[in-house]
Amino acid sequence: MNRYPSRPVVLCLSGHDPSGGAGLQADIEALLAQGCHAAPAVTALTVQDTVNVSDFRVLDRAWVLAQAHAVISDLPVAAVKLGMLGSLEMVDTVVEIMQSLPGVPLVCDPVLRAGGGGALGKDEVGYAMRERLLPLCRIATPNLPEARILAELPEGSADQCAARLLAHCEHLLITGGHGDEHEVHNRLYSRDGSQHTFTCMRLPGSYHGSGCTLASTLAGRLALGEELVSAVRTALAYTWRTLRDAEQPGHGQYVPRRLPLDFCS
Ligand code: PLP
Repeated sequence: MNRYPSRPVVLCLSGHDPSGGAGLQADIEALLAQGCHAAPAVTALTVQDTVNVSDFRVLDRAWVLAQAHAVISDLPVAAVKLGMLGSLEMVDTVVEIMQSLPGVPLVCDPVLRAGGGGALGKDEVGYAMRERLLPLCRIATPNLPEARILAELPEGSADQCAARLLAHCEHLLITGGHGDEHEVHNRLYSRDGSQHTFTCMRLPGSYHGSGCTLASTLAGRLALGEELVSAVRTALAYTWRTLRDAEQPGHGQYVPRRLPLDFCS
């Protein structure tokens, strides 16, 4: 029997999307594609299709703590990825979980809306993430609409939002996919004043699970030991390819193709 060395483990604390485009399924697929092992702990259940979300339920805090501690006490967690939390209580629950993982890089995707626009948490959940979770994370990955909510700047530019949010976190990647220019500008800001812009061609259509794909890939690259700026570059390039190759399994948004078609052959 072959005994392969274990792949780096990434603990994912995210919601479940039964359409399979976003949430934990996106995390698992993106992490597999990086050569990582996903440990998916459910924070919330959602009712949604590829068009939009109609309902969600946040799990009991005790259940989320129990899932996370089962993973942490057994597997060597090399990075943590946060997605949908859905409630103020879940923000505090994640803060408590991170106390058991000192020094482990945390990537926070501040999910507040589904791709179709439906709410996956009140704005207050975003403010609590900003105050209590962003200080714990290596990097946060809001898109510009999310950054505007977190920064409480409804019309703010990426630069203006970053100026506010860097008071809370060390590194911030504000993605530009929700704009309408010909090119997408993804901007990485760091508290030491350095800034990088990654530009890519805008792809037509709208996508379900692109933010989840990006954040979990980034967590995977950090778990593999890649340095931050390089990890961001790799994660953006991979995510762009998953969108270029996306499929439309339902009546709504396109779903990124995160794994090659010949994955099983
Ligand atoms: N997490 C869950 C559970 C979701 O259902 C969604 C969107 O529907 C998201 C995260 C965010 O998706 P996206 O990556 O499209 O921003």
